[in-house]
Amino acid sequence: MAEFRNLDIQIRASTPIWTGDSNGTMNRIHETGLIGSIRWWYEVLIRGLGGRACDPSGKSGQAKCSLNLENPGESEAATQREQSIQTGLCDACQLFGATGWKRRFTMRIHRDDTIPIWDDSGHLLHIVPPKRTRGWYLPPGRMGEFTIRLRGLRESLSRIVSLLLFLEKYGSLGAKPQLGYGLFRLADRGLDGRIEPFKWAPIGDGPTESPNITEFMFFSYQFEPQKPGWWTSIPGLAGVATEIQPLVNKHQVVPVSPSLKNEWRYEQYAKRMGDDKNIFGSVQPTRIRSRVAVSWAFRSEDHWEIRGWARMPADMKAAEVLWRILCDRRTWERVVGVPGRLEVLPNRKEWQPWTVDELEGVLGGCIC
Ligand SMILES: [Zn+2]
Repeated sequence: MAEFRNLDIQIRASTPIWTGDSNGTMNRIHETGLIGSIRWWYEVLIRGLGGRACDPSGKSGQAKCSLNLENPGESEAATQREQSIQTGLCDACQLFGATGWKRRFTMRIHRDDTIPIWDDSGHLLHIVPPKRTRGWYLPPGRMGEFTIRLRGLRESLSRIVSLLLFLEKYGSLGAKPQLGYGLFRLADRGLDGRIEPFKWAPIGDGPTESPNITEFMFFSYQFEPQKPGWWTSIPGLAGVATEIQPLVNKHQVVPVSPSLKNEWRYEQYAKRMGDDKNIFGSVQPTRIRSRVAVSWAFRSEDHWEIRGWARMPADMKAAEVLWRILCDRRTWERVVGVPGRLEVLPNRKEWQPWTVDELEGVLGGCIC
C-alpha cells in the first residue's frame, strides 16, 4: 500500500497550455501552474462527492486547514477519510498538503518538448468581436508534448491519474481555462497495469460548498469544415487572420473563445437578463471569475472540436437562461460557421444539478 513509485505520463496539448508567471511570460511549462489547476479540480470533485475542501488562497474568507499536531501522521491502513479527520485536514489538503503536512506526491516536468505558439512572448493576440471596443487579449501558451513524472504513495498516484483521465475528457490543465487554454490528451494510453484506477465514490451526505461538480455543465461541439479558410468568417477573426493562419497551419488551433463569449454574453445573456457580471466575470470594481469556460477550436482526429464547461449559478432563472443559450446548436453554427454536433452533460432538457448516479456514471467512465 505505502509503496513509492515513479509514474511517467506523457501529455499532448490540444489547445495552448498557459502556466505563466507573474510578469506574464512563460518560457516553459511550470509544475506549480499544473498542480494549482489539478488541486482546483480535485476540490470540485471532492466537494461534489460530499467531501470537504478548504480554500487555501483564503479568498473566500473560509478558514484554511491547519494540522492538528496532537495527532499527526498516518495511522496504518487508515483510509484517507479517517486520516483527514485524525489530522484535522480537509480532503484536499490531505492529498495536496498544508502547513505541516507534505503533499502526498511530487510532480516534475520530466521532459518538455513544447514550444510557444508565437515567438514574441510579450505579444498578446488582440481579438475584437463586432460591437466591442476593448475585446480580448490572448497570451502565447505552449503547444506540443511534455512528460510529467509523478512520485508518491500508490493510492495518491491513483487519485491523480484518475483525475487526469477526467480532465482529459472534461477539464483542463494550467491557468486561463475561461479563455480556452489547457485542453490536452494523454499521449500514452498504457496507464493500466502501471497504476490501478481510483474508484470515486460518495464520501458524505451530498455535495458540500461551491464550486462543486454537481453545479457544472459540460459541452462539446464537433464539426467537419469543408473549406480550409472556414474560420475567417468567425466574428472578430478576419482582422487578425495573418496572426491566426500560422496557428492553424502549425498547431491546428483557432482561438474561437472570444467570439463565442461575445455572442453568449452580450448578444444573448445580457439582452435577456441585464446584469451579466456574475456569469461572465468582471475585473472592476471587484474581480469576479467567469463561470463559463470555452476552449479554442482544435483538431481531433478527423474532425474539429470546441469544448468547455459552465458552473451554473444557484439562481434558477439565471441558470435556465444560461443553459438554454449554451445548448442552442444554432448559435454554435452561426458563430463557428460550420454545422456540427453538440453534446451536453448532464444529458437532459432542463438544467438540474447532477444526481449521485449521473456523477458516478461520468466519473466511472474516466477509468483507464
Ligand atoms: Zn484544507
